[in-house]
Amino acid sequence: MNFELAGEQQEIRERAAEFADREVAPHAADLDREDRVPVETLRKMADAGFMGLCVPEEYGGAGADFLSYCLLIEEISRADAGVGVTLAVHTSAGTLPIIMFGEEEQKSRWVPPLARGERIGCFALTEPETGSDAAAIQTQAEKVEGGYRISGHKQWVTNGRVAGTMILFARAPEGITAIVVPMDAEGISFGEHARKMGVISATTDDVLFDNVFVPEEDRLGEEGKGLRVALGTLDAGRIGIAAQAVGIAEAAFRYAAQYAATRTTFGKPIAEHQAIAFKLAEMQTKIRAARLLVHEAAWMKDRGERHTESGARAKLYASQVANEIAYEAVQILGGRGYMKDHPAERHFRDARVTEIYEGTSEIQRLVISRAILREQKESLETPGVEESRPVVG
Ligand SMILES: Cc1cc2nc3c(=O)[nH]c(=O)nc-3n(C[C@H](O)[C@H](O)[C@H](O)COP(=O)(O)OP(=O)(O)OC[C@H]3O[C@@H](n4cnc5c(N)ncnc54)[C@H](O)[C@@H]3O)c2cc1C
Repeated sequence: MNFELAGEQQEIRERAAEFADREVAPHAADLDREDRVPVETLRKMADAGFMGLCVPEEYGGAGADFLSYCLLIEEISRADAGVGVTLAVHTSAGTLPIIMFGEEEQKSRWVPPLARGERIGCFALTEPETGSDAAAIQTQAEKVEGGYRISGHKQWVTNGRVAGTMILFARAPEGITAIVVPMDAEGISFGEHARKMGVISATTDDVLFDNVFVPEEDRLGEEGKGLRVALGTLDAGRIGIAAQAVGIAEAAFRYAAQYAATRTTFGKPIAEHQAIAFKLAEMQTKIRAARLLVHEAAWMKDRGERHTESGARAKLYASQVANEIAYEAVQILGGRGYMKDHPAERHFRDARVTEIYEGTSEIQRLVISRAILREQKESLETPGVEESRPVVG
């Protein structure tokens, strides 16, 4: 057992933290107010090698492991959760599926511009009529000579408007199919700009497809096997969102702890009132527990182990913790916590969506509880286990 990061992971965390403090945090409040994507910051992240951090070097990335990527997402999200999700969706949902499910030719054609940050990636599964129930999507991929004609409506696509490449899920003759689509393809347009509660520096767009042609060679995996691509992508993506949640929680905690040390009431800093001191103790403990779950899930992914349930546990807990900590941070700041002059209210708004996107908390509970049930059933089928069954009735 070893709780220490490896040398390279530690170095990436330090570089990410330094970049987040210098290049990201100073703009967070303005971007939140102006509802604007910091394209210039994305360019600097590309220069720093962050847009393809966990992409293998042969495809233009930095070749770091997934845990390093999670450290990066945590640090960037600590500074600005919107920039954090922009990077997370670009990497784990917009780039990694091509590496996981693509042919060699597709990887070498599509991935290097994404890994270098010359193109931004996005992922389009959700539609107005369906989100959690991904198997019910209605966007059509009609088979035509040489490829497909896509028609439909994709909702709330993170990075949509600034993306160069989309991983699209549509219904082809053999079933749901994943297709890589260049965002300048003829027939693509955008719906109204979504006005959100939080993560405002990330753009979230409806993308409309009107008879868009894509050649057959841009299909990702087999026709009809798109749900496998979507679920495999989200298994990893969720670990990144859990890291984002830890970043938001850490930011809220640090600000509140500092405030509590300096704000005095009744003749002493509020951190010396036990009610506030104990809040801080609980907050820090929960953040550390959430971070460990994130690291465990990333570690399992890096070892090539199944990480569906560990990722779901990390996301379920870290997103819950982010919301609890952001709530308590507002409380510790009192009236100031409710004002836009302090970042606590932004953290409070940003935390909320971590329980919703890349699978709601209810869906994470479904994933985890189904695995528990599966394990129980398997153990009952194993000869010899019969005797140890609890006696009921
Ligand atoms: C800011 C933002 C960015 C997003 N970015 C993207 C993106 O880039 N790409 C993309 O494809 N999507 C994206 N989404 C969509 C997001 O993934 C969905 O909103 C999410 O999966 C939930 O789907 P839904 O909103 O349709 O809710 P629904 O599926 O309609 O669910 C509504 C409620 O019912 C619950 N529920 C549903 N089914 C069950 C069940 N079986 N058991 C128990 N409870 C259930 C849900 O947990 C939820 O509480 C984004 C959303 C937001 C808000």
